[in-house]
Amino acid sequence: DHAAQSPLLSTLNPEQRAAVTLPAEHALILAGAGSGKTRVLTTRIAWLLQNGLVTPGGILAVTFTNKAAKEMMTRLSSMLPVNVHGMWIGTFHGLCNRFLRSHFKMANLPQSFQILDTQDQLSAIKRLCKQHAIDDERFPPKQLQWFISGCKEDGQRPANVEARDDETRRKVEIYQMYEEQCQREGVVDFGELMLRSYELLRDNDPIRAHYQRRFRHILIDEFQDTNRLQYAWIKMLAGQGANASPDMPGGAVLAVGDDDQSIYAFRGARVGNMADFVREFHVQHQIKLEQNYRSYSNILDSANALISHNGNRLGKNLRTDQGPGEPVRVYESPSDYAEAQWMVDEMKQLHREGIDRKEIAVLYRSNAQSRVIETALFNAAMPYRVYGGLRFFERAEIKHALAYLRLLENPNDDTSFMRVVNFPARGIGARSLEQLQDLAKATGCSLHDAVSALTGRAGAAIAGFVAKIDVLREQTSGLNLRDIISRMLEDSGLLAHYRAEREGADRVENLEELVSAAESFVMQEGFGRDAAGMTQSAGLTQSPASQGLSGEAIEQYGIEPTDLTFGDTGETLSPLVAFLTHAALEAGDNMAQAGQDAIQLMTVHSAKGLEFDCVFITGVEEGLFPHENSMSDRDGLEEERRLMYVAITRARQRLYMSHSQTRMLHGQTRFNLKSRFFDELPEEALKWLTPKLPAPAAFGGAGRGWQGGNASGYSGGYGNQGSSGFESTRYPAGGTVRVEKEVVRRDESVNGLVVKQKVFHAKFGEGTVLTLEGTGDDARAQINFPRHGTKWLALSVAKLTPVP
Ligand code: ATP
Ligand code: MG
Repeated sequence: DHAAQSPLLSTLNPEQRAAVTLPAEHALILAGAGSGKTRVLTTRIAWLLQNGLVTPGGILAVTFTNKAAKEMMTRLSSMLPVNVHGMWIGTFHGLCNRFLRSHFKMANLPQSFQILDTQDQLSAIKRLCKQHAIDDERFPPKQLQWFISGCKEDGQRPANVEARDDETRRKVEIYQMYEEQCQREGVVDFGELMLRSYELLRDNDPIRAHYQRRFRHILIDEFQDTNRLQYAWIKMLAGQGANASPDMPGGAVLAVGDDDQSIYAFRGARVGNMADFVREFHVQHQIKLEQNYRSYSNILDSANALISHNGNRLGKNLRTDQGPGEPVRVYESPSDYAEAQWMVDEMKQLHREGIDRKEIAVLYRSNAQSRVIETALFNAAMPYRVYGGLRFFERAEIKHALAYLRLLENPNDDTSFMRVVNFPARGIGARSLEQLQDLAKATGCSLHDAVSALTGRAGAAIAGFVAKIDVLREQTSGLNLRDIISRMLEDSGLLAHYRAEREGADRVENLEELVSAAESFVMQEGFGRDAAGMTQSAGLTQSPASQGLSGEAIEQYGIEPTDLTFGDTGETLSPLVAFLTHAALEAGDNMAQAGQDAIQLMTVHSAKGLEFDCVFITGVEEGLFPHENSMSDRDGLEEERRLMYVAITRARQRLYMSHSQTRMLHGQTRFNLKSRFFDELPEEALKWLTPKLPAPAAFGGAGRGWQGGNASGYSGGYGNQGSSGFESTRYPAGGTVRVEKEVVRRDESVNGLVVKQKVFHAKFGEGTVLTLEGTGDDARAQINFPRHGTKWLALSVAKLTPVP
């Protein structure tokens, strides 16, 4: 009996133990939030290794984020002396990157291929459209990006896309041209990492056979959010399906997931992969975990009650032995600013009570909400960290610096070329660049190579830029990463540019932070310590040396020799390429202020799998959460509800949910009703904190730290924010507004309208009045338009006609 021998198992419940000690066969763990799925997955790896049932090289584990991968490796190395460094633990993208790096030749890629993140991809598409004079009204670049990524997620190359109409046919042509451009420039986007890995496995028998033989155990967390292509990739690696060879059984797949937490349908995730998996892999072992170890029952009951409103569920139970705990606190505030202020006050109190800041998380539905919260935290001098959103590596100045670095590595990277050819300004005009692009197109070469054919003044200026890069490449060859970056920052003129800028101090700091980031990257990856460290690195792992392992342990658990010799080359990646890869793949959030005790800010999407002592869910309002884009159809609404389920279940001890009557978002003031999700929570688990409504003129901001027109960009009051989808509310000119406590009247008539009345609007069509507020010029109505969602309209402006 393994349980008796292994302390690994002693802390698990019987179902968890059964899952950890399953035989080497396909299995599915389907269980609710906080039931220990991730813990089981990690412990299983440790258990398999400890009992000699697999070597570290025989494990492939897919996690949802880099953060999760790191956590898993840390936990593994705390459980047993294993070289986590050599193990394939990472995200789909991280693992595919590693795979393509090992087989770059067969994948038809340059060794130092660069990765385009979502932003880079969009600029590459924009550039392509410009070059081919594609009408961006008919084919908006963002839409093209969506189309291309969607095709790739479905595993479709241009030749496989079924185009039934002219519009789609044209899109497919653009997709084709985009692919050629990427290939020419030696860059791959996120979708390409996955698709190319898949195709390489599919089309190359020896490689497929090698990996099928190698990975004895394939473990996948958050399986409910895999897309079609990822599922196909797993199937291929596990030797299932059409390419299975009868004489060689593939590895055992353990899929772990929760259908109630499937929140990426909008990006192609297919919850149906779970059912397909059970059927196509002939899964014999399905394990349910029903004990929640994370949250007190008030929190868990709220989550359970909410999710029970969804129709399409596989059905699971979840209970906890912890007591009821504290009630879920609900707060209503008059404005998003007041909401943020309340939150910060509450956080200060929590911190005084001894809760670490990093155990306090603020979750929001969309990134745009973070600004107000950040301002409040900043004013209160409360350290915080924002995950997702504008990540460190996505900031403009960092992108510029990375573009220079990429050009050092690969002069043919046209996206980077275009980004910095005239940044800082060198007097190179759009016209000259167009000429250059035409030349490059005509001769089929890169912008860098086309320069020599360009004549005249324009030619000289651009040639000057190219020479600068070429010289810098020469001068930095052989330098260490830190020195390469420092040198580039000076010679490119970037530092000088931002130093001269009036508000450039932050950017200069960020550029300096890039040097520190590079340094800590080099240290973490252990460059120069061992050869394996370099080939195996991809921003994913720690070197064995830094784990303090004995040589014996490295030998015992080390990388299989085949790992190092099977790939295209035994050569190592340069630290620069490894760092650029890391910048593209890593969220970058472990860079700035790593290790500091800070409040955690993130979207609900990026909170998946994580847990915190205290959680604030903010902006729980109709139109925001559920999001207005998802409110009109049932599937959309159910996904929003799952998202709320994920949010609620992140909390261990204390949960706050707040909503605000007004909110500045995307430059408009919106009047929002509290979310319908509140009605789906059990009243007995909630505690409504009675808000103290502020004195008149509170929104104007004077004296509350949010002065109108301050750096936060909030100009105080409801200006004239009229724009599409929202009629402008007319308030006295000058911004500052008189706001009194307004009572929502449900049965009185306002400007001739009553609640529940049907009205017609020229743009939004027929709708039903939900709420009426205010009087005279300030009168406004909330109206639900089935085709356009729920909107607040100012009655003095909106042209509404009653429908009989
Ligand atoms: P999610 O669906 O949110 O990803 P999960 O099912 O992966 O959740 P884990 O994160 O693995 O759940 O576990 C939730 C918490 O419960 C963790 O803090 C974990 O350490 C703890 N836990 C899990 N199993 C046990 C157990 N048997 N005894 C004590 N604590 C446990
Ligand atoms: Mg988990």
